[in-house]
Amino acid sequence: MKIDPEKCISCLECIDYCPMKCILEGEEATYMDQDECVECGVCLRAAVCPTEAIYMPEEAFQYPRSIRREFSDPAVQYPTLKQGGRGTEEMKTNDVTGRYRRGEYGMALEFGRPGTGTRISEIEKVLKVLLKMDVEVEKSNPVFLLLKDEATGEMKPEVLNEKVLSAILEFKITENQLEDAVNTLRPVLAEVDTVVSWGLATRFASDGTLPVRSRLAQIGLPARPNAKINMGMGRPIVEA
Ligand code: SF4
Ligand code: SF4
Repeated sequence: MKIDPEKCISCLECIDYCPMKCILEGEEATYMDQDECVECGVCLRAAVCPTEAIYMPEEAFQYPRSIRREFSDPAVQYPTLKQGGRGTEEMKTNDVTGRYRRGEYGMALEFGRPGTGTRISEIEKVLKVLLKMDVEVEKSNPVFLLLKDEATGEMKPEVLNEKVLSAILEFKITENQLEDAVNTLRPVLAEVDTVVSWGLATRFASDGTLPVRSRLAQIGLPARPNAKINMGMGRPIVEA
């Protein structure tokens, strides 16, 4: 996103709308730090500029910068997958495809948040480790469109420095892989230069409990009380 300095009157109305805090006060006019801007479109959609100085420049649509919008702006569809970016549509719900069956845990690693974002290079660090593990990685995910080598997790060099608001890696493990998976990923996650939210999808046991909570506590990773609970009303009648 850019600001037309000829139109900007430096009223600063737009500054608080940027989730990346990359709209900055300049000597002549307000401007956007182009390296930090993730092209999320919030400043433009907020429509607070009294002089319509904020605009989406042509560069925002040109690859590789175009991936910023695709991962960061929920109003933009990833052109190849025909869905909003970040992760797959079903990742947090398990409600239609029934992707995570009994005996399995779905895992999500969400890189970046408003205020921090993530470089694609940070995702590469973890993906390289993940692909060496004996786990089922979800490949119908927009991150996989950025890969140079699907076997190693090496990303295309031109995307490594691109910054997005967030992106999600998804995989699933069997229940008995929990401790190994956590212990393998923790060291590399500690090296990543952004915040990573670790999500786990599981089904309730027949007695209504979630046994995974005590297992996570035992390995020093207590589950937060917040959760999304799906009633399974849209799930397939017959599980594959
Ligand atoms: S597009 Fe998003 S990140 Fe870029 S300046 Fe506007 S609000 Fe900030
Ligand atoms: S709202 Fe418009 S005029 Fe005001 S600082 Fe932002 S870009 Fe400039």
